[in-house]
Amino acid sequence: MLVEHMTWEEYRDEVARRIIILPVGSLEQHGPHLPLNVDVVIPTSLAKTVCEELDGMVLPPISYGYKAQGGGQLFPGTTSLDGTTLINLTLDILRETYRHGGRRFLVLNGHYENTAFVTEAVELFGRAVNDATVVILSWWDQVSDEMVDELFAEAGFPGWELEHAAVTETSLVQYFAPELVREDRILDDQSERMPKYSVFPPPDDTLPKSGVPYKATHASREKGEQLAKHVVDAIVQIARQEL
Ligand SMILES: [Zn+2]
Repeated sequence: MLVEHMTWEEYRDEVARRIIILPVGSLEQHGPHLPLNVDVVIPTSLAKTVCEELDGMVLPPISYGYKAQGGGQLFPGTTSLDGTTLINLTLDILRETYRHGGRRFLVLNGHYENTAFVTEAVELFGRAVNDATVVILSWWDQVSDEMVDELFAEAGFPGWELEHAAVTETSLVQYFAPELVREDRILDDQSERMPKYSVFPPPDDTLPKSGVPYKATHASREKGEQLAKHVVDAIVQIARQEL
């Protein structure tokens, strides 16, 4: 199910009948306790689990994303693409996979700022072909209100825009790739102020010093497992319905 591990003959025989999943992430700071590729680890791990429940295959992820907003760009290691680069990269991958017979696609996004550029790539793809279906989804949009209430019973839900390197992402990495989590570096943090507008370059007091804008200490492997199962179920249902 991992395209990068298939032979060309295996790929040839499977590509037309399977749902092709393209994880899209980023290389972005995720606090002192998580690696730079969190936004790749999460959608790729979800994609692999989804493939255990339906006939899918997972393309190598897009490991870079559009520029992190809210000051993320100022942290060493956050390495981002221009919008046009992300559009063209996504479009090339869709076109090439289509050329080999792929017709049903699921773009699984792990980094908020990618959304508009991935959508633009799919729009352009749709102008060129008329017999392919593409679903674009971000994993956090598939989390029900009830699950949010449960996961944030103690911490309180700050809104998805502040849920960066905090409860959900930390919990999911603790579940999917515990060896990547620096458990002794998990912390709660916040910025001094959170304006509802953007200033370029971002003023210092609008970024949390650690890169964690909320309470990561409320994360746990158990929450990660619960959330992963919930999101996988939702994605499987969407794929069955739309693809
Ligand atoms: Zn992230």
